[in-house]
Amino acid sequence: MQLTSFLHSTALFVCAVSLLSTAAHAEDADGKLRIIVFGAHPDDAQYTSGGTAAKWAKLGHHVKLVSVTNGDIGHWQSAGGPLAQRRLAEVKKADAIVGAETQVMDIHDGELVPTLENRQKIIRAIREWRADIVIAHRPWDYHPDHRYVGVLVQDAAFMVTVPYICSDVPPLKKNPLFLYSSDGFQKPYPFKADIAVSVDDVFDQKLTAIHEMPSQHYEGGASGSEEHVAKVPPASDEAARKAWLRERWERRQGGEAKRSRDALIKYYGPEKGAVVKFAEAFEICEYGRQPTVEEITVLFPFFP
Ligand SMILES: [Zn+2]
Repeated sequence: MQLTSFLHSTALFVCAVSLLSTAAHAEDADGKLRIIVFGAHPDDAQYTSGGTAAKWAKLGHHVKLVSVTNGDIGHWQSAGGPLAQRRLAEVKKADAIVGAETQVMDIHDGELVPTLENRQKIIRAIREWRADIVIAHRPWDYHPDHRYVGVLVQDAAFMVTVPYICSDVPPLKKNPLFLYSSDGFQKPYPFKADIAVSVDDVFDQKLTAIHEMPSQHYEGGASGSEEHVAKVPPASDEAARKAWLRERWERRQGGEAKRSRDALIKYYGPEKGAVVKFAEAFEICEYGRQPTVEEITVLFPFFP
């Protein structure tokens, strides 16, 4: 490359970077929080964090729900591009109800590995969102894609602040708060609810969002079957379907409230914390910012 063209392309690059950072600062200037939630498949982020996302969005904060794979083997009856497109359409509908933005990365379902290339994708996604809070699976989950999302996000923590990696996207000035979403796995250590959010007030909204992903519950996703579909009320009986879904999610989110009661009492006080019915809980990852209780109440501005 000749020196003049090198200087020209360098100037263009610097210009593009400064434009990007100006745009990012303009977004930051609204004073609202920016949250990015990673799940492995187009439904995970909605399942783990959809209620809390709705609460942030209601207050004008910016939430993005990301699926790191495209979900293209997540059904017992269909696969490939058409399934990926169907699932993208499902999460877009669900996220619109929650008030969040959608991103689905074009990586095959069941094939996610913690490569350098994928680490760089995660670093860029966190930086481009200018995230204050990052949520992901723990790396101790049953599904390899879930585990590797946990590993990739851990590997991106701290690196998001280092200027000369992925230098095409401006680094974050502050390491975000990195959180794990909840799971029931016990080894090597069980999930610890450091923060628990009551989703009682947005439970119906979360259900309405989840209802928009029929491939994964009414049809059973990768674990579905004709027998499963026969047990679920048909699409023609929407009220019965929603009741079926409600029963399952009351159990799931109710169990999460019981298991995270101590954290609910810590943040809502003994009276309110004791009667929360449905919760979403999060564990603080050691690799990100370590917030004080006061900082947590700023980042989760719905505690009383
Ligand atoms: Zn999943």
